[in-house]
Amino acid sequence: MTQQRYMVIDVSLCHDCNNCFIACKDEHFMNKWLPYADEQPRHGPRWMNIQRKERGQFPRIDCCFLPMPCQHCENAPCVKDFPDCVVKREDGIVLIDPVKSKGKKAMVDSCPHGAIYWNEEANIPQKCTFCAHLLDDGWNMPRCAHSCPTGAIRFYNVEKAEFEKIKAEQKLEAYKDEAGRNPHVFYKNLYRYEKHFIAGGILKNGDCVEGAAVSLKGVAAPGQTTNYFGDFKFDALDSGTYTIVVNGKDAMTVTIDASLNVGSIEL
Ligand code: SF4
Ligand code: SF4
Ligand code: SF4
Repeated sequence: MTQQRYMVIDVSLCHDCNNCFIACKDEHFMNKWLPYADEQPRHGPRWMNIQRKERGQFPRIDCCFLPMPCQHCENAPCVKDFPDCVVKREDGIVLIDPVKSKGKKAMVDSCPHGAIYWNEEANIPQKCTFCAHLLDDGWNMPRCAHSCPTGAIRFYNVEKAEFEKIKAEQKLEAYKDEAGRNPHVFYKNLYRYEKHFIAGGILKNGDCVEGAAVSLKGVAAPGQTTNYFGDFKFDALDSGTYTIVVNGKDAMTVTIDASLNVGSIEL
């Protein structure tokens, strides 16, 4: 089988520097890479679209970033809806034909991830190409991966079976793939964007308590001991009700549908 192209993005390593977005602009603005893609407009489209989320409440807060290119789905709605203008290559890359797609503005709505942008001037829908023009020219990764200073974006050219092993070893996940579109973009540490944390601090007589044993009742996650500041943090939690246990006693019960700073728990 032809080697497949996959992108893997580690959410915990992305700092929203936007190098990937700028590299994509640099590669595709004022450059026509026909027949792969026409040039990308200067403003508007974000073929690499970095989504942002803030979790928690001050001062126990964090920010996380989810870089989102076209997911190059195996069962792509854009291919299904516009079979004459969108192709899925043997290596997994999904490409919109820049000539045949002229005037097909409805294609923008066919992508559940919002990855297709309308180029008003050229009168065509456009999206990330996985920089197929570079890969076909011998590059082993696209411009965005090449430009990422933290190594958050990695690119693989491997057999499908080999990638399945990588997926399992690195605990990679697809983003919002309940419908089984089987993307070729996977995420590591996706919990940073999709799940919640419960954080707080333990006090005694107004002082931080270091080394207090904290756990969540009925949750498999290992217990923690509070740090120098008396703080604890349980992450990767689903929405639900949790009881915080401190030094063996139930201390507080909370119901969450987002990350929560519970404040201080007085012993
Ligand atoms: S270049 Fe890397 S670290 Fe910077 S925004 Fe893109 S993915 Fe994140
Ligand atoms: S992410 Fe959207 S544009 Fe990309 S292949 Fe899937 S459906 Fe098509
Ligand atoms: S793979 Fe190429 S086209 Fe896609 S987001 Fe990265 S730089 Fe842009």
